Amino acid sequence: MYDISNYFEARSVEDAIRLLQEHEDAEIISGGTDVLVKLRSGKGAGETLVSIHEIPELHGVDRLLDGTLVLGPATCFTDLTNDPIIQECIPYLGEAVDTVGGPQIRNMGTIGGNVCNGATSADSAATMQTLNAIVVLQGPDGTREVPVTEFYTGPGRTVREHAEVCIAFLIRPEDYQGFTGCYMKYGKRASMEIATLGCCVRVKLSEDKKTIEEARIGYGVAAPTPIRCRNTEALLAGKSVDDPQIYDLIGEHVLEEVNPRSSWRASKEFRMQLISELAKRALKEAIARGKDGGKDA
Ligand SMILES: Cc1cc2nc3c(=O)[nH]c(=O)nc-3n(C[C@H](O)[C@H](O)[C@H](O)COP(=O)(O)OP(=O)(O)OC[C@H]3O[C@@H](n4cnc5c(N)ncnc54)[C@H](O)[C@@H]3O)c2cc1C
Repeated sequence: MYDISNYFEARSVEDAIRLLQEHEDAEIISGGTDVLVKLRSGKGAGETLVSIHEIPELHGVDRLLDGTLVLGPATCFTDLTNDPIIQECIPYLGEAVDTVGGPQIRNMGTIGGNVCNGATSADSAATMQTLNAIVVLQGPDGTREVPVTEFYTGPGRTVREHAEVCIAFLIRPEDYQGFTGCYMKYGKRASMEIATLGCCVRVKLSEDKKTIEEARIGYGVAAPTPIRCRNTEALLAGKSVDDPQIYDLIGEHVLEEVNPRSSWRASKEFRMQLISELAKRALKEAIARGKDGGKDA
C-alpha cells in the first residue's frame, strides 16, 4: 500500500498546473518508478499525487522544420530507444536510456522523470548535458526555457518550481548534426544497476574525418550534479583523430574538472579511475563511429 492522501489524473498541462497550485503537498507522477519507490520507503508519506501520464502532448518525439528535436518528457525509455528520429539523429541517447534498469522499468520510466528527479546517476544525464538539451517548463506565469547545463542546483535539486511542469526537451540542430557519440556506464552488473559512473563523449569530425572539429564530454556521478568538461573539450578541438596522445589528453585532463565522492557503491579513488578510463573508451568509440560515416546524424 502507498500512503497518499489524493491522486489526480491531469487531463492537460494547465489542469496539472492548477492541481499543483491547489495542493502544496502535491508531487507530479509520470512513470512512477522513482516516486512510488520513495513513497513505499516512507518518504513523502501522505502526499498528493498529480499524474501527467495521460496528457497526450507530453508523449513522443518530433522534429521541427528547422531541425530542432522535441522530446516529450512522458516518453518512456523503450519508446525513446525505438523512436526512428532518435535512431537517426541521436542514437547514443537511445543507447544510454537502454541501460536503465530492466525492460519493465524502461517501459514505465520516462525521460522527464529521469531529468526532473535531479539525480546525478540518471542514465540520460551525461548525454543530455552534451546535447545542450533545453528544458521547457510551463507554470502559472507562462513558459520558460532552461539549458539542462543550468537546470541542476544540487543533488536531487533543480530550478523547477513547485507548480511547473516540464513539457518538453528541445535539442537544436547545431547540437546534434554532424556528431557521433557514445555513452558508457559502469555498474557492478549489466542490468538493474544504478550507474557507479556514466560518461558520454561526442565528436564532430572534419569532412575528411582526420580532425576533431568539436568534442563534448558529459558525466553522471562525477560530481554532485551531472557535468560537462569544457576545458578538456577545448583541448581536443583541432587534434588529429590518429594521434594516440588524444587518449592520454582526455584521460588526464578530465580529472581536473570532476568532483566525485565516495559512497557505498565505490570510493572516490575508484571513480577517478573510471572517469579517466571511460572517457578514453567513449572517445575511441565516438571517433570510430565518426570515421565509419557515423550511424548518427
Ligand atoms: C528497479 C529500478 C531500477 C532503476 N534503474 C535505473 C537505472 O539503471 N538508471 C537510471 O537512470 N534510473 C534508474 N531507475 C530510476 C527511475 O526508473 C528513473 O529515474 C526514471 O527515469 C524515472 O522516471 P519516471 O517517469 O518513473 O519518474 P517519476 O517517478 O514519475 O518521477 C520522478 C521525479 O520527477 C518528477 N517529474 C516527472 N516527470 C516530470 C515532468 N514532466 N515535469 C516535472 N517533474 C516531473 C516527479 O515529480 C518526481 O519528482 C530505476 C528505478 C527502479 C525502481
